[in-house]
Amino acid sequence: MNQNQLFQRTRIRLALCYAVVMGLILTTCGFGLYTAIFHAHSIALDRELEFVANTLHNNLESKLEQPGKLTPIVKELLPNICLIKTNCISPKSSYQSHILNVLNQSYYVRLFDNSEYLIAIAGSLPQTKSSVLNKKRWETIEDDAGNFYHQISLSLHTKDNRDWGYLQVGRNIADVNSYMDAVKLSLVVGLPIAMMMVAGASWWLAGYSMRPIYQSYRQIQQFTADAAHELRTPLAATQATIDSALLMPDLDIKEAWDILATIKRQNQRLTSLVVDLLMLSRFDRKSISLAQELCCLNDIINDLIEEFAAMAISAKVMLKSEFHVHKDVNIVGNSEQLYRLFSNLIVNAIQYTLPSGKVTVILDICDSNAIIQVQDTGIGIPKNELSHIFDRFYRVNSDRSRHTGGSGLGLAIAKIIVLSHHGSLEVKSKVGQGSTFTVTLPVQDCDSELHIRLNNLYKFSKNI
Ligand code: ADP
Repeated sequence: MNQNQLFQRTRIRLALCYAVVMGLILTTCGFGLYTAIFHAHSIALDRELEFVANTLHNNLESKLEQPGKLTPIVKELLPNICLIKTNCISPKSSYQSHILNVLNQSYYVRLFDNSEYLIAIAGSLPQTKSSVLNKKRWETIEDDAGNFYHQISLSLHTKDNRDWGYLQVGRNIADVNSYMDAVKLSLVVGLPIAMMMVAGASWWLAGYSMRPIYQSYRQIQQFTADAAHELRTPLAATQATIDSALLMPDLDIKEAWDILATIKRQNQRLTSLVVDLLMLSRFDRKSISLAQELCCLNDIINDLIEEFAAMAISAKVMLKSEFHVHKDVNIVGNSEQLYRLFSNLIVNAIQYTLPSGKVTVILDICDSNAIIQVQDTGIGIPKNELSHIFDRFYRVNSDRSRHTGGSGLGLAIAKIIVLSHHGSLEVKSKVGQGSTFTVTLPVQDCDSELHIRLNNLYKFSKNI
């Protein structure tokens, strides 16, 4: 396949298309995965912050008395709270059992009075000089050191429901960001690796899916070459006969008859070859619509034994039939094709059997199948050739086959006739002992004739 430019180009195009489509799908999935993970983390972070802020908010509100004033009891709740006026630096060891500490040490709390002035702080605060309150409920900020924080702001009330000020609870989100960076990095590194694997797989898949097409392309090429070769032989023979006739100055009537007989023989060979080729191509295109009828196999076999009796006598071969059933065996099929099938097998059997040999056509029934065997005591077929003899133009021994007038299409045609009748064709052979070709065809029940008639009637009414 790699030597053929057309197939090579198609394979590259197919592999590229696969790779591009898969690449787009993978990139979309990667982006979707990143967004989903980010979304899940944001929601978890918001919930956590909201929980901490609400807990603190409810606890504080139950203790606050004067707007903008912190009661000493608040110290119990937030041990490390620091009033801005006192300019304190929060000692980290001083808060051991607080809710913020239990969760993690990246939390901070800020308290603003009603005039949005920062009055107290607690926890790991952002390194920023700005102490302005942003009243947005949710906010993500970046401090002067480049750290990111996520915070929530809630309004605070005193015990007697007067406005006290605002509570802001926030958290350093470096852990979330570093996790998301790790996800991003694995996607950025993983996607090109996945793309390379996809490209390799695409190349292999394109080759794999094109293999049957390439095989049938090769078969067609081989078939065309074989057909041309077979057609050339009789054409060349005719040409040579005509050329030699033209060279004869005084052609007498007997010589002219001989020449015409040669040309006629070659013409017949050509005609039968073209008919066979046409038939095969029609079967291939399934454009052949066979008239179906009830065919009696006993009659067909008897007719053929009679027809080929003279041929068998001249080949000094004994030709006979054996019916192992004592009733008529009927199948639905095309009688013309069935005659062709069995005559191909019988002619082969006679042609490939030496004088004083025997050819027997046996008819039997087994499991509602008609079994027809064409047995001969002929030259047989080597084991390694058995799988090829049904191939088009295949001949075991070309010289001998050509001598018998065979073109190597007989068994190929026999096979497709059997298949078109939903049957099977098998061969057993031993070199020097003979061959047995077994045809199995489904036998029809009593309703078949009625069925065929109704079918024909239906087709006829459709045509009107
Ligand atoms: P051909 O027209 O050359 O006989 P077929 O397709 O009928 O072509 O057969 C293919 C090949 O199978 C033949 O060339 C022949 O060598 C072999 N063959 C077919 N039938 C027999 C047989 N009964 N005994 C031995 N060889 C056979």
